[in-house]
Amino acid sequence: MYQDLALYIDGEFIKGGDRREQDVINPATEEVLGKLPHATRADLDRALAAAQRAFESWKKSSPLERGKILRRVGELARERAKDIGRNITLDQGKPLAEAIGEIMVCAEHADWHAEECRRIYGRVIPPRQPNVRQIVVREPIGVCAAFTPWNFPFNQAIRKIVAAVGAGCTLILKGPEDSPSAVVALAQLFHDAGLPPGVLNIVWGVPGEVSTYLIESPIVRKISFTGSVPVGKQLAALAGAHMKRVTMELGGHSPVLVFDDADIEPAAEMLARFKLRNAGQVCVSPTRFYVQEKAYDKFLARFTEVIGSIKVGNGLDDGTQMGPLAHERRVLSMEQFLDDASQRGGKVVAGGSRISALGNDKGYFFAPTVVTDLPDDSRLMTDEPFGPVAPVTRFKDTAEVLRRANSLPFGLASYVFTNSLKTATEVSNGLEAGMVNINHFGMALAETPFGGIKDSGIGSEGGLETFDGYLVTKFITQV
Ligand code: NAD
Repeated sequence: MYQDLALYIDGEFIKGGDRREQDVINPATEEVLGKLPHATRADLDRALAAAQRAFESWKKSSPLERGKILRRVGELARERAKDIGRNITLDQGKPLAEAIGEIMVCAEHADWHAEECRRIYGRVIPPRQPNVRQIVVREPIGVCAAFTPWNFPFNQAIRKIVAAVGAGCTLILKGPEDSPSAVVALAQLFHDAGLPPGVLNIVWGVPGEVSTYLIESPIVRKISFTGSVPVGKQLAALAGAHMKRVTMELGGHSPVLVFDDADIEPAAEMLARFKLRNAGQVCVSPTRFYVQEKAYDKFLARFTEVIGSIKVGNGLDDGTQMGPLAHERRVLSMEQFLDDASQRGGKVVAGGSRISALGNDKGYFFAPTVVTDLPDDSRLMTDEPFGPVAPVTRFKDTAEVLRRANSLPFGLASYVFTNSLKTATEVSNGLEAGMVNINHFGMALAETPFGGIKDSGIGSEGGLETFDGYLVTKFITQV
């Protein structure tokens, strides 16, 4: 059975009444799964008041108390992973094993924040006179508003919730209306783990209307958003106009640098599988493939072979390795990328079009696709495709590939394959990116910082940096 959908405000699950409702669609079958209630103005006001009231006591809670609730959330997430994962596959499309894996990883985020919130330390500064004391304390910033997307509906939301709640803040979160089940399930996890009413509130609605209302409210002190660069810039500008702190986890266009001296075939295989995780709808998805001249043919042959062998289908079916795209918008976007590629002289060497994976004309399926021979200013090489399409191109030397890799306004993840220590050092120093992965994929762990630079965002989630966006610094001096 699909998740019962609701708002969650002041500790209560709410729906019905005169609230507008939105259909939630299964992207594999196009069937309607459920009706999602939109928050009214009165609901948003109630969520704001609840978060403000709850902050007065939650900010004084001990980190041990907060940690106990977060640890319980981790335990409950593990217990419920199969059911929550199934609903993610239904409304987001990813294969069931990926959906369950997303929840298991998130349980670790809850565990880690449960421990780390005990270590939100201040400091003592040596005074100039012996009778003076100078202390720096870090306090929770207040009520936060968060907006999370549909590609990792559980992960993107829990990362913001555990950081805010662990720091002693309260939160109103608007999840993704396209794939809402995971966020409602999260509200239930926190509720059952004993989080006091008002500390976490979940709302739904027209994204721009809800975000504008919450960001402009004087009650909200901090904004956190994960999504596209244009929307992130819009929200950051609005937050700036009201002098509010932001964390922005935005899009990328991750370069992949494969050098002649790498283990070419294993790299090609690993990259093909990683590229198609979540059908390529991942902000850190490997996106532009630069392969050094001598390795190019070998890389392309193995990469194309693996991409072409991936089984596309309904994420609930055994053996499915890639599900549908999350909604029709993404399929249309892939078609536009492919149109531009063919106009710019690109050669499609695998896939290239929408497919009917279920034997009927239903579902938002797109074939895993590889395109070669594209110029650097084509759309696939410059705009985030956010789908299962990989452009592969050649390079001559390190200086050239670094210049091309750094040429876009994005700076999220990057990938390097080489067996040379000198090359690894040179490119990890030279890449303009928030995260550099050398010879493996090792990001997004609870204990490591995740975030971008340049247009890809502001701030980090995870790692020691995780609470920075949710704390303010207070200096106290006394004689
Ligand atoms: P979109 O930009 O309309 O929406 C992306 C997400 O932002 C959605 O969850 C949406 O509800 C939310 N959103 C949009 N406008 C908003 C607003 N004014 N206030 C608050 N939230 C808002 O695009 P889309 O078609 O849903 O997704 C396509 C693009 O979004 C992709 O090409 C990709 O660049 C980006 N995206 C990035 C991530 C990420 O993890 N960084 C995740 C999902 C989507």
